Amino acid sequence: GNSLISLRSTVSCSNSSIQRLESNSSIHKHLISKITATGPISVAEYMREALTNPVAGYYVKNDMLGAGGDFITSPEISQIFGELLGVWCVSEWMAAGKSNTFQLVELGPGRGSLASDILRVFSQLKTVLGETDISVHLVEVSPKLSQFQAECLTGDNTQPNDGDQPVYRSGTTRTGLPISWYRRIEDIPRGFSVFLAHEFFDAIPIHKFQRTEKGWREVMVDIDPESPGKLRFVVSHSPTLASSILIQKDENRQHVEVCPEGGVIVQKLANRIAEDGGAALIVDYGHDGTKTDTFRGFKGHQLHNVLEAPGMADLTADVDISYLRKMTGNEVTCLGPITQRSFLKNMGIDSRLQVLLRNCHDPSTRAQLIHSYDMLINPEKMGHRFQFFSLLNRGRLAQYRGMQKNTAPLPVAGFAELDMQ
Ligand code: SAH
Repeated sequence: GNSLISLRSTVSCSNSSIQRLESNSSIHKHLISKITATGPISVAEYMREALTNPVAGYYVKNDMLGAGGDFITSPEISQIFGELLGVWCVSEWMAAGKSNTFQLVELGPGRGSLASDILRVFSQLKTVLGETDISVHLVEVSPKLSQFQAECLTGDNTQPNDGDQPVYRSGTTRTGLPISWYRRIEDIPRGFSVFLAHEFFDAIPIHKFQRTEKGWREVMVDIDPESPGKLRFVVSHSPTLASSILIQKDENRQHVEVCPEGGVIVQKLANRIAEDGGAALIVDYGHDGTKTDTFRGFKGHQLHNVLEAPGMADLTADVDISYLRKMTGNEVTCLGPITQRSFLKNMGIDSRLQVLLRNCHDPSTRAQLIHSYDMLINPEKMGHRFQFFSLLNRGRLAQYRGMQKNTAPLPVAGFAELDMQ
């Protein structure tokens, strides 16, 4: 994921720097020999290799976040973001009946900033959380990023575990909670959980499809016959397995991106929330089934050709929230999408900013607080590009739905104004 919108229109990368990157990219070489041997590959396979190849994938070997990296995200911009999401987690735990155990689960935690701000809120709300047995569970493919997360959240009070164990690292957070790292959601223990996914789904591989006179065809990645070291997109001559099963019957766009792996992940979340209780909050660049061609690359805060130097740049596609909603089936209640601006305003970002400003007298820190607040909620910046989408256990709103015929504001923090009483 990425978020620097102001730079989106500046596509620039000199030819010489691209060539240097390409010759450095072992994934590029690997894909060229693979396509030479067995033919074009799907965009999903290309994206999966570029991002998560276990040796040279972008997320596996890079520290791409922050000002010196390729993109910067909301939790990195301001502590207020994570604090408000922390309040949301506690508020949902309370509304769901204050379960005795409470698993905070984050998918793709990056540098760990979001979890760190949330855990600070949990500490501050100790009296509310009482004797609850809280634990932290992180799903992260990148061993390198798991190290950053361990450093940030525990001061590296963790043990890497041997070999292929499902829990590949574990320890104790700075705030004294047990914390574990996993590669897959299935490996997290069952139990009441609040799941968070911030700029996670946009990094999950998509398939791309084009409507043609002969019907839907999958867009594939092939070698450019004009210049054999280069990759290009081609439209498959005949249907592929993906093109025959992933297009919805009522589809009316000309070009579609589908993220079946994202669909499977959201099904797993829905399933657990239905059976074990809890909620999920998904935050991403998103649309509700209307956009077409959103697959793009970022390097050094600049747009980057997706087919150049795979593994050296971030690849991302807007999340189709209508698809995620469809994949949850009828197992959970879905809320949203609602814009980041509305969600954060509903969570009380304005009063939180005022509190921080009141306690801060250094002019440059004050300016920084105001600037980062503006980045988060300005509609021209991140305020309208980012969408919040939530899954709740069906029991959560049953009473409300029964009693009020939907005229009262939703009793869910963030999706309606927070009642501070
Ligand atoms: N949530 C963070 C980081 C976003 S970058 C933030 O907003 O700042 C995407 C994160 O997802 C990285 O931590 C990356 O390593 C992780 N990731 C990407 N693909 C993954 C996958 N298939 N399984 C688990 N984690 C993945």
